[in-house]
Formats: sequence, structure tokens, C-alpha cells
Amino acid sequence: MPDTPAEVPDFTQWPSFPFEGDIRVKPLDEPVDAEPPRKGEGHRECTACNAPDEAYIWVGERWRVRAMDRPTGLPMVLILESRSHLDLGDLPNLLAAELGVMTVRLERAIRSLDGVARVHVNRWGDGSAHLHMWFLARPYGQLQLRGTFLPLWDSILPAIPESRWRENLAMVAAWLAEFGGRPLAEPPRIQWQAPSSFSGSGTAPVDVADGEPTSVIEAAEEAGPDPVEENPSAEEPTREARGPASADPEAAN
Ligand SMILES: [Zn+2]
Repeated sequence: MPDTPAEVPDFTQWPSFPFEGDIRVKPLDEPVDAEPPRKGEGHRECTACNAPDEAYIWVGERWRVRAMDRPTGLPMVLILESRSHLDLGDLPNLLAAELGVMTVRLERAIRSLDGVARVHVNRWGDGSAHLHMWFLARPYGQLQLRGTFLPLWDSILPAIPESRWRENLAMVAAWLAEFGGRPLAEPPRIQWQAPSSFSGSGTAPVDVADGEPTSVIEAAEEAGPDPVEENPSAEEPTREARGPASADPEAAN
């Protein structure tokens, strides 16, 4: 028997909580004395700095926007990155001000897509030291997806059709390009016959470097140590995507 099992919090009863059945709270590991370096810290390579512009759907002088490498459950999941290797608190005033402008612009672009009710903006940063902001679109009408469990639902829901995903990427890229920069995502070519895959549909604007996460939750897994590193004590990687799960989605809206 575990000693004093932690009580399961109220949010497990919320309609937005994705799981049912018997839920138990995991025991917490002992805190480490020194945290391991994130990507782009210490001796670890920075994925963002190494990624070519072609891995993004839109690039500007100081900002880039990328997608996952395949469709996921939500209508749109995008990441805004600074070109410079800086974390949020290190941004100089120019970039800090532009982050606000870019955040508003990207939120509006994603919210303009068909079937999108809301866009949630998140910054975790446990996995990579290079600033990256998550933009997660909630499908319209799906009230159960409201609030802080949306990143979990992204991995639970069936992936949206690839053609729709590519159209959405192209629309966001074109929207951003209205203000400058270069759109790299293009709409899919017209498919005269039902394709078995879209691998041949023109450019592949959203391919990202090997090992890049394909969903918010996979990104959380990425926060763990390099697989090649010896770290026998790390059975579970850091959970980057846990978010402020105690926030009440009703109150947050
Ligand atoms: Zn970097």
C-alpha cells in the first residue's frame, strides 16, 4: 500500500478532463540538485538554430513560424520562434515588443481559419532554451475541449485530414506574409484522384529536422535527456506540456 495516497484533484471531474476510470496520483521523484541542460544549453545542440528556413511555414527577419511534421488532432498547432537564440526573459526590448505584435497577428491568423473557435497561446520551455511559443487552435463547438487540457486532446483526437491541414498552413503563412516575411507553406495541388498520400503534393514546407516533436505531448517527451546520454535514473522525462492544469477553464475564458 502506498503511504498517504494523494487525493485526486477536482479537475479530474471536469468535462474537459480527457480520462475516466480510476485515476491515481503518481508519486513525485526526489528533486534533483542540478537540472539537466535543455536543448541549446550547455553542450546540447539547439534544434531551432540548426533548422533551415525550409523547415518553417513562414519566416521573417527576426521570427519564424513552424508546424508539426504531420497533422494532429487540433485544426492547427503552430510554434513561433525567435531567430536569435534567446529565452523569453532575455529578449531585448525590440524583440519583446515584436513578440507581442507577432503573438496577436498569429492568433488572429489562426482564429480566422474555418472551424476554429479559440487560439490558446502557451510558453513552457522546459525542453528547449530557444524561445518557442505554442499556438493551439480549439475546434469550434467542441466545448469539452475548453481550457488547459487542450494539449492532451491534441494527441487523443484523430488527426485532421492532411489536405485541410496543408490548406490551413498555407492560409496562415499567407496571412503573416501580408505584413512581411516569406510564406513557405503552399496550398496542396488539386488532387484529381483520391491520393493514397500527399507526399507528392508539391513542396514539403513543413518537414522539420529529425527528432522534432510531432505534437505538444511529444514535445514534452522531447524535454527529457538525449537518448544517448547515460541517465539511468530518468525513467520519465520532464513534462513540458503539463501547463497550469489547476486553472479552471470557465474562469480562464
Ligand atoms: Zn537556438
